[in-house]
Amino acid sequence: MALIKCKECGKQFSDMAEACPNCGYNPTRAKDKALGLKPKGERKSKAVALLLTFFLFWAGGDHFYLGNIGTGVIVLIASGISVVIGLYEFVLFAVALIACINFLRIACMSSADFDQTYNKEI
Ligand SMILES: [Zn+2]
Repeated sequence: MALIKCKECGKQFSDMAEACPNCGYNPTRAKDKALGLKPKGERKSKAVALLLTFFLFWAGGDHFYLGNIGTGVIVLIASGISVVIGLYEFVLFAVALIACINFLRIACMSSADFDQTYNKEI
């Protein structure tokens, strides 16, 4: 445990503390803000994105979670129509192939790259 100097008020506080007890300055939050990232609690998780890509690719679950609503709707409609007209083998194969590529892309992304891509403050 060490003492760090508050960038806002100049007083010292423990590096174990989440924020300065004197003025409320939060170094982690300030760093996130400087990088343009959302606060920790509001961020999308890479693990959840991978699980949704793996299990709900056919419904566009990963696209909805990651904020690509348009792509999610297209995948959902394509999957739905393919089942109705009986072409689901072909369409689901194509959707699954794209999901595999998406899964590998997200899995190979570093946490920093994932945050820069999906957790930017608007
Ligand atoms: Zn302070």
